Amino acid sequence: MPHHAPLISTIVIGLVLAFALGALAHRFRLSPLIGYLLAGVMVGPFTPGYVADQGLANQLAEIGVILLMFGVGLHFSLKDLLSVRAIAIPGAVVQIASATLLGMGLAWLQGWSIGGGIVFGLALSVASTVVLLRALQERRLVETERGHIAVGWLIVEDLAMVLTLVLLPAFANATSSTDLESIVISLGLTLGKVVAFVAIMLIVGRRVIPWILHYVAHTGSRELFRLAVLAIALGAAFGAAELFGASFALGAFFAGMVLSESELSHQAASETLPLRDAFAVLFFVSVGMLFDPIILINEFGPVLATFLIIVVGKSLAAFAIVRLFGHPNSTAFTIAASLAQIGEFSFILAGLGVALQILPEEGRDLILAGAILSILMNPFLFTLLDRWFAKRETARAEAKAVAAAVEEAERVAAEAAREPLPVTSLADHVVLVGHGRVGKYISRKMALIGAPLLVIETNREQVSELQRDGREVIVGNAADPDVAAAANIPQARCLLVAIPDAFESGQVVEQARRINPELPIIVRAHSRAEEEHVMKRGATRIVMGEQEIARAMFAAVPNARREPVLSSVDEADDILDDEEAEASANVLGPEADADKTGGDSPEQGPARQPPDEPGR
Ligand code: AMP
Repeated sequence: MPHHAPLISTIVIGLVLAFALGALAHRFRLSPLIGYLLAGVMVGPFTPGYVADQGLANQLAEIGVILLMFGVGLHFSLKDLLSVRAIAIPGAVVQIASATLLGMGLAWLQGWSIGGGIVFGLALSVASTVVLLRALQERRLVETERGHIAVGWLIVEDLAMVLTLVLLPAFANATSSTDLESIVISLGLTLGKVVAFVAIMLIVGRRVIPWILHYVAHTGSRELFRLAVLAIALGAAFGAAELFGASFALGAFFAGMVLSESELSHQAASETLPLRDAFAVLFFVSVGMLFDPIILINEFGPVLATFLIIVVGKSLAAFAIVRLFGHPNSTAFTIAASLAQIGEFSFILAGLGVALQILPEEGRDLILAGAILSILMNPFLFTLLDRWFAKRETARAEAKAVAAAVEEAERVAAEAAREPLPVTSLADHVVLVGHGRVGKYISRKMALIGAPLLVIETNREQVSELQRDGREVIVGNAADPDVAAAANIPQARCLLVAIPDAFESGQVVEQARRINPELPIIVRAHSRAEEEHVMKRGATRIVMGEQEIARAMFAAVPNARREPVLSSVDEADDILDDEEAEASANVLGPEADADKTGGDSPEQGPARQPPDEPGR
């Protein structure tokens, strides 16, 4: 084992094992988080074999926390929260309070301090964003009312945790002294520093940070842009901790939040994604390293109690409050199941609690065991939920239908529980995959000629824009067979695949070609290799972005076509131009000529259906 380079071996072995076990977990339809945590257990001190450097792993994990929190800030949307505030705020508060009380009860039985009990209870009260979004996305629930409530609820929990992380060190200081005056001073000082930091971020940061990004974006260097985003995230986190005594997490959260107002935020988000993912994995590995599996046997009772608080206690509280607010059982069950788990925030809180000597190490072990078990349990809860939906629908159907129809009704009910995508009523329509830089132009043109258009798009912002314009849109990944099925490919006029990733385009093409062997499929590509990849899967025609740009630029050269000597490439291009015009006329049919007639197609109804959007 390369002990001479502990940093490298910790990163490499951590990532490789996490990858292997994460992929295995995925194979069994479990959250990859379980795989990452198990990888940590394997390289931890409590299992035989290689033991990674815990100190280094913790520092790497801190970077993971900073980037995770930066992402939470980037995706924090006050608007989303306000739209469901009536239920999300009281719901989250009541749930946090009840989980904390239950946790404190268990802590009291264990003989821990009140402070330890509060930290333990709070850690049990906050659900994992990663696990929740995955569960909602898999069931296409993010865009439903239930999904909005669950996400809003989670934002409130996150905010409560951010506040806890800030105040905990001050409380720790305060409780170590008996003198009331020094307690008040210590709390006041911390709060004052935090308020100063937040004020500086909101007043100065809000202007300076977007300005820096705009400036760097204008240099045209992607490398510098990436570096700027990282420097802002890490710099703000470090500054918050060093200068203001606040946590890394708070600094990163605010840096993200300030950035989220700028239009460059989406680019910033995607620039930090790969690094965030890598370090977040190391964070979960480092958490797994702290876990001693023997606790599952030695401390069976407390582990079971912790698990029950997370899965039963929290769920009951959530269910009760959602019902109390007059929402139906289906909403209440979905919210309860979504939140019946704990994850990253609980680990951060437990880590801080132990570091400040408020929470005993045993408490952290229970939290880890509870998290692993509840994340494992989560998919089963959703399966139970699906069954319940199926049963309920069946019961309703039975009341109406004769016994012979029951079997069919069950099938329908089971499908209804999975929120199937309704198939579009459009026919002879153009299916456009991707509504980004390329897709937008196409849809505008389509609106001008009044051709029926159906857009498939994953990005929520794009979808909202399309919905505002009254376009029909399916939210989801076009490579998903259910999504493709909803697009009525057999009766479509053509398929335009305008996404940048050729690998994904290949999947979309392959699928559509299987459904409709005659369909004209036109695909965007960026290189010969991509062209070949997509053609092999059944594309009819490839449009190469760079080539088209070159062509248009060449066409803009004054008098270029009148030069006496044309290179053979140019001549070939001219021929291609003609072919292209012909091909597009064939594909689009007669409307293509009526290019400037204007107006939306009457067939373009409002947007339907649910989602597939990555995390907040
Ligand atoms: P652009 O590269 O700016 O043209 O953007 C491509 C657009 O396609 C973005 O808005 C993405 O959200 C969207 N997109 C990428 N992959 C898929 C997919 N598999 N299914 C649906 N939409 C996608």
